[in-house]
Amino acid sequence: MIVSMKKAESDFTRLFFESNGIKFSSFRNWVFYPGMLFESQKKWWNEGKQRTKPHQGVDLCFYRTEVKKVDRIKPGMFVPSLFSGYVVSVVDDYLGKSLFVFSHPDLLWAYGHLDLDVDIKEGKELKEGQILGVISQNVKNGIFPHIHISIGRVIGKATQRLDWNLINEDAIIKLVDPMPYISSEYELMSSFRAEKNKK
Ligand SMILES: [Zn+2]
Repeated sequence: MIVSMKKAESDFTRLFFESNGIKFSSFRNWVFYPGMLFESQKKWWNEGKQRTKPHQGVDLCFYRTEVKKVDRIKPGMFVPSLFSGYVVSVVDDYLGKSLFVFSHPDLLWAYGHLDLDVDIKEGKELKEGQILGVISQNVKNGIFPHIHISIGRVIGKATQRLDWNLINEDAIIKLVDPMPYISSEYELMSSFRAEKNKK
């Protein structure tokens, strides 16, 4: 199933592939399995067990290059900044580091599971497309290396350092589906297991 959304607002997808020496003309669309999209209730690893809270963003891991070919993001791939902005916090997550950035007057975006460059710290100004680090090398629970992206509208002010629990509070951030900001088209696969078993 192909989903079409409004025009992407960030050049993230093109910049991501070009930063990693992959011709953007060879990219067709992102590919998602159940559990990877915004507000998914289940995990896409660990046999699709229930998540502790609905997914706070999207997990980019798979993409289609040809009609019958799905490729996968590799650890160590460079990750560009989604938008210009400034870093409000950097925290550890279960695969690497997470980064929270404010852009425009009221937009928050966050990445998870990266190895960040050493100079990416709180207060750092970012330009859209600037390389922030790489996809984390850590692998746990059989989960494939991937990048998590969240986007939210800032409603209130956090009095503590932003983290994944705080951005879940409706009084501070209203999370939205990141896909319209990332790519105009993506594809939903019905079953992760079926695809894995083909290899
Ligand atoms: Zn995620």
